[in-house]
Amino acid sequence: MKKLLLTVALGFAGSFAYAADCAVDLSANDAMQYDLKEITVPKSCKEFTINLKHIGKLPAVSMGHNVVISKAADKMPIVSDGMTAKDTDYVKPGDTRVIAASKVIGGGESTSVKFSTEGLETGGDYDFFCSFPGHVALMSGKVIVKE
Ligand code: ZN
Repeated sequence: MKKLLLTVALGFAGSFAYAADCAVDLSANDAMQYDLKEITVPKSCKEFTINLKHIGKLPAVSMGHNVVISKAADKMPIVSDGMTAKDTDYVKPGDTRVIAASKVIGGGESTSVKFSTEGLETGGDYDFFCSFPGHVALMSGKVIVKE
């Protein structure tokens, strides 16, 4: 019985450590800046969550931010196709190049996006970025996929 309890306790500790590695907090401000230059996604996580917080004061209509993940080569085409897609958070509906995309938020708001790591290649070239028109030049970083 003691042995069983110990196993259960270790199991809980293990799942807490697991959860901590499978999410990241990202903030964005009114100066079109994220606070992170890169996000590391461990393949050991089945799913990964990005918690985005807009720490500015401007509303979504003038300074909206989201976070989108794709292969680096797909970034600019996704942004340009999504530029007029205001109703779908500046991502063209059904865009299969998009690995993950959050909704667009304004100052003081938060959102989360969870995605499967299954299709991600270790060492692949991935970016995270904001697809709000005009933001990608400043709001872009690297997604590092590791084992
Ligand atoms: Zn933005």
